[in-house]
Amino acid sequence: MVAIGDQKCDFCSNPDVRWSFPAGDFTVKIENEVTGDTGLPEDKSADVAYVKDAWLACDDCKNLYEEGGIAALVERVGSLYKLVDPTLADPRLYEKVTEALTRLYTAFQVNRTGLPVPIERQEGD
Ligand SMILES: [Zn+2]
Repeated sequence: MVAIGDQKCDFCSNPDVRWSFPAGDFTVKIENEVTGDTGLPEDKSADVAYVKDAWLACDDCKNLYEEGGIAALVERVGSLYKLVDPTLADPRLYEKVTEALTRLYTAFQVNRTGLPVPIERQEGD
């Protein structure tokens, strides 16, 4: 059961979470340039562990994923990143970000354990 609280979409960070994709834990290698100032080691890449029993999604990301797969999600989230991070106007950096997103979402897809479950809405929502 998923509790409603300060949750957000695990893809685009939209707080309007509607779906829960059951998934297992996994680790993804992410290049340092992409992780930025997240406190990860200074070497070229870092293994980032995703320990979650479910990935939350908003309607848009869930529909995009079901219709267009990982590529559609990467495009959506990549363009949202561009809006908040002007350095991503650099196509080389943007390519690194979309590569990292592709790697992450591929790992998510491989580790999915079931169909998305609708999240109950609270009254007054
Ligand atoms: Zn979303």
